[in-house]
Amino acid sequence: LLDRVSSSAFPFASRTLSTVASPSYPIRATLFPGDGIGPEIAESVKQVFNAAEVPIEWEEHHVGDTVDPKTESLLTWESLESVRKNGVGLKGPMATPIGKGHRSLNLTLRKELGLYANVRPCYSLPGYKTRYDDVDLVTIRENTEGEYSGLEHQVVRGVVESLKIITRQASLRVAEYAFHYARSNGRKRVSAIHKANIMRKTDGLFLKCCREVAEKYPDITYEEVIIDNCCMMLVKNPTLFDVLVMPNLYGDIISDLCAGLIGGLGLTPSCNIGEGGIALAEAVHGSAPDIAGKNLANPTALLLSSVMMLRHLQLNDKADRIQNAILSTIAEGKYRTVDLGGKSSTSDFTKALCNHL
Ligand code: NAD
Repeated sequence: LLDRVSSSAFPFASRTLSTVASPSYPIRATLFPGDGIGPEIAESVKQVFNAAEVPIEWEEHHVGDTVDPKTESLLTWESLESVRKNGVGLKGPMATPIGKGHRSLNLTLRKELGLYANVRPCYSLPGYKTRYDDVDLVTIRENTEGEYSGLEHQVVRGVVESLKIITRQASLRVAEYAFHYARSNGRKRVSAIHKANIMRKTDGLFLKCCREVAEKYPDITYEEVIIDNCCMMLVKNPTLFDVLVMPNLYGDIISDLCAGLIGGLGLTPSCNIGEGGIALAEAVHGSAPDIAGKNLANPTALLLSSVMMLRHLQLNDKADRIQNAILSTIAEGKYRTVDLGGKSSTSDFTKALCNHL
């Protein structure tokens, strides 16, 4: 089945970008089970890794109850140190209270660990029918700035201001990552997604940086697509796209749209790439409070994220084995979770998957 998902079977440019040189075994990796459905799907990953005899020793860290003054969030300093030390990790979703409360846990991780690019592959799963048969694209989201800079304040009563920050440094870095990713994964086209007709300065600078980098990659076709048109084109014909690179907020939204093309958020993985070669993999989805604690969540997105982590570690045999088992279990159709129209619980799906290893 791996052959049938073409180059996206290897959704991560690990072999060229990894800084992990001949790791010693067992490899230590940080695990944040996270909130909501996080612990249930993290348990699924642990079971599958055990069954596949993956030589990983987890260093598990939980979100605290009180704010750590060093991180100004519920994430402890030790948990961040653990990722820095290990260089790799897997994180479950973390809930963010809307419009109030402590610093977002996800923003803390991205800022503190310098996680500058978020790679979100999205491809049609063999044997699982949606309106589209051959989606195979990768969204690369700038992960540190844009509307997520956290600079918001009230100007006067009834008027608030939120600052969108775009820097040359972050834009060049994510553009470079996207083109390098495209080249090292045999992809042909990079589309920069923007709204520079309105956000002339910010998205204008982002595009200028993408153009600069594109010149160094004559083997990769470069194009620019306005975000609203991009949404329409994605829904009409997603095969028009290959690698998409974009500022933070657009990446957040477009990747959920892409998930919808192939069957939903239960299926789409991602990996955050950070300074010094850190890789922190996580599902695209959130904590799904509506189904948390009910053994209903689809663990596929987190499992495929863990596969990205394994590829980063160059444990490609284990990654192939687990990815193949996921694809076979879904293709067979007997054990599918509720979000995919099946009747299986998280734990039954996990058991079936282990039997496919
Ligand atoms: P969500 O992604 O949690 O859920 C959206 C819908 O998709 C829900 O109906 C949910 O049940 C379903 N869904 C998501 N993952 C699923 C899975 N694995 N299996 C089956 N169904 C699944 O988005 P939301 O409800 O907008 O956000 C909930 C919380 O998660 C918020 O606090 C938000 O801030 C947070 N969030 C965190 C991250 C992250 O940690 N990276 C990402 C997005 C949202």
